[in-house]
Order: sequence, then structure tokens, then C-alpha cells
Amino acid sequence: MKKGREVTLPDRSVTDEKVICMHCGGNGYMKSTPNCYHTCLDCLGRGLRSA
Ligand SMILES: [Zn+2]
Repeated sequence: MKKGREVTLPDRSVTDEKVICMHCGGNGYMKSTPNCYHTCLDCLGRGLRSA
């Protein structure tokens, strides 16, 4: 008897895992003075970084 061999390929789902930017705490910007904000360069203003 021949047994069918099933080849299970790893699930290649694109899991683009994101982590909160530690630099700005997920805000996407940094507060330099009470009136001045500037975009966080670590995450480019998104507040998230790719892991
Ligand atoms: Zn950031």
C-alpha cells in the first residue's frame, strides 16, 4: 500500500509585525518645547516600527 505523502509548506503569510517606537512612545512625534513638535525620525512619524 502506498501512502500519500503530504508536503506541508510553512505558512508564508506576510506578518509584518510592528512594534511601538520606543523613541517617541508611539506618538510619531517628539515634543522638544511645549509649542514645538517634530516628527520622530526613528519611525518617521508613524509611531510604529517594523520589528
Ligand atoms: Zn518614533
